[in-house]
Amino acid sequence: MHGPLPLAAATIAPMTHDESPRRSEPTGDDIDQAWADHLSPNRRQVMAAGLAAAAFGGVEGAPSVAPQGPQDPVPPQGQGKSPWGYETYKEPTPAPVSLRPGEQQLPAQPRRYTDIKSYHAHIYFDEDSYAKAALLRKWVADRFHVELGNWNREPRGPHVTPSFYFGFTNDLLPVIVPWLQLNSLGLTILLHPNTEDPRADHLHYALWVNRAQPVNAYGMKKPGPGEPAVEQICPNTKPSVPLET
Ligand code: ZN
Repeated sequence: MHGPLPLAAATIAPMTHDESPRRSEPTGDDIDQAWADHLSPNRRQVMAAGLAAAAFGGVEGAPSVAPQGPQDPVPPQGQGKSPWGYETYKEPTPAPVSLRPGEQQLPAQPRRYTDIKSYHAHIYFDEDSYAKAALLRKWVADRFHVELGNWNREPRGPHVTPSFYFGFTNDLLPVIVPWLQLNSLGLTILLHPNTEDPRADHLHYALWVNRAQPVNAYGMKKPGPGEPAVEQICPNTKPSVPLET
């Protein structure tokens, strides 16, 4: 778009040597930097402008490009005023809300395991592991009577990456857990119970297959009036493949 640049070629050739007067031979970094300088749009524009000026006879050759110093790795500090004020460093360290949800002190008794009414399995994936998620999803739907959700191709609810989920009843737990352990295909899977406290279900009562990942459930609320106290599981699959045993 700038037309032929005869001077550009002349400028490139000696660049690696002429711009490195400290050394007799250019290093790889020198050469990389020289090419980066040359190929940058800013430099090309400056060179083109110089050539255009030369074509009109006003300038002998392209202007020398002012060398740009290294970019400051620390951006200049803002001149505004902190919205936090200037006393936050004096604040006392607050105690965490609780050891377990809703309990300010160590509990006197353990919880009843029968408070768990059902389970969810959330399978996480990304653009590289989508095919694994699709295969695992089909395997599950073909074999288990579960409530299978749709594809979440973007973060949804407390789940911060793409995912799908299936819900299942307590009786399937002794089968689903080992089955997922052996068939996760390496995907990260969150297994959480469903009690009356969804926030705790996701943050404090979870099991993970493979690596854990963040779950943004801190803002989850307990069901409101008129809502079921615990999420219901309504199986919607039609399994047709006998489970491999
Ligand atoms: Zn869930």
